[in-house]
Amino acid sequence: MLDLLVRGGTVVTPGQAGQFDIAVRGEKIAAVALPGAITEAARQTLDATGKVVVPGGVEPHAHLASFIGTQAEKRSYTIGPEDDTRGMAFGGTTTHIDFCYVRPGMDFWKTLEERAARWKGQSHIDYSFHIVLTGAHPFEVFENIPEAIRRGFPSFKVFTLDVLPRNPERPTAQLDFGRIQIVMEKAAANGGIVVVHAEDHDLVQTMYERVAKEGRMEGWNLPVVHNKTSELLSFRRTIQLAGRTGAAVYFVHTSAREGVEAVSEARSKGQAVYAETLHHYVTFDAEDYKKPKGYIYHTYPSLKHKEDREALWNGLLHGDISTVGTDEYPTTLEVKLRGNTVADVTGGNLGAEARVGITYTEGVVKRGMSLQRFAEVTSTNAARILGLYPRKGAIAPGSDADITVIDPSVHKKLTKEDFHLSDYSPWEGWEVQGWPVTTVLRGKVIVDKGRLLGSLTDGQLMPRKIDPAVLKAPVC
Ligand SMILES: [Zn+2]
Repeated sequence: MLDLLVRGGTVVTPGQAGQFDIAVRGEKIAAVALPGAITEAARQTLDATGKVVVPGGVEPHAHLASFIGTQAEKRSYTIGPEDDTRGMAFGGTTTHIDFCYVRPGMDFWKTLEERAARWKGQSHIDYSFHIVLTGAHPFEVFENIPEAIRRGFPSFKVFTLDVLPRNPERPTAQLDFGRIQIVMEKAAANGGIVVVHAEDHDLVQTMYERVAKEGRMEGWNLPVVHNKTSELLSFRRTIQLAGRTGAAVYFVHTSAREGVEAVSEARSKGQAVYAETLHHYVTFDAEDYKKPKGYIYHTYPSLKHKEDREALWNGLLHGDISTVGTDEYPTTLEVKLRGNTVADVTGGNLGAEARVGITYTEGVVKRGMSLQRFAEVTSTNAARILGLYPRKGAIAPGSDADITVIDPSVHKKLTKEDFHLSDYSPWEGWEVQGWPVTTVLRGKVIVDKGRLLGSLTDGQLMPRKIDPAVLKAPVC
């Protein structure tokens, strides 16, 4: 007896998209077969006729229950997993990777244990953490990297800069390039990947000073501070260092044409360089900052311009951008809007719930992205690059039964009621065609037709291990 049968849909498998039925036994996919070929009875059947069935979304970039550094003196935090993962579940995402910050003086393993404990029993979907190394760590800290990889945490996030102006209330984010080199060496030797927030520290910090001096502190000058030249310099510097150390690199939130070009060039030479962009960056641009409540659209580095959006789409459609992440940083509207200068606009995005649906509308419906490519950029590629594949990111026998059903007949303007965790969404008023309606996590239907059926104990910590081929050359 099967536990679940998903019948009648257009299913995206690793090889092709077509009409298939999916048999689920326990938490795993038991078979993917031509319509009607599965004859075994099932306890539960989902009729997916007329719908698109894709692997559950993998969100590679979320900052939940995270200290808000922009107004450090307020000591506030982003919304936690107990609320945010409800939105992810509704939005068709079944796994997310958050961050565990290890700052100088903090115990590496204790910090990781505490972060994992914060999620235990508090997440609707599966999860893991990138380990973030910031500040002037003594070298011994980097000796933990091989063991962390063995324990299932193979991705290490570094910031090449302090994103915000220096402030004693705020811990530093930057890891200097010498220390980044050490992280790269350790990652390369042990099967890890280095996740990089790449902007040029000197350029950005000096631009903060310059705009202050010139009286141009309004938040819409963020692209002047976090600018395209900064992305150009830092992506290329990081790629050079990665080439020297043999490390694979994953660039988070690529925002500019210059970033796409640097990544594309490195990949064409066979270097294991991967890039993420945000659905946010391909749909909004710097002009949006000037709208009423325009800072709801801000996320670091910054929104850029039309030519950048086009370059990012080109990368997403044709292969040089591997993933759509969110940089999820969920807050209330009041917190999101409490700053209005380049130094204090609240960063990050409230959009993990919209990620899969917006990418479907903007990619598949409006720009002719294939269903295969859509599944890759919302799920499969993040799973491969970050070590969850083929357990996650595939509708195939043996994979976890993480399944998202999209109804392409949904045609609506999004309203606040379409979202499930805060008092606003930057996507209110956005026109969509196609939206996730059913989400299955390891065989359990956690959302169906607007109802939450899952619970906070459904999500589990996922150990990760990256396929060596991913670390050697760009495979996706
Ligand atoms: Zn981030």
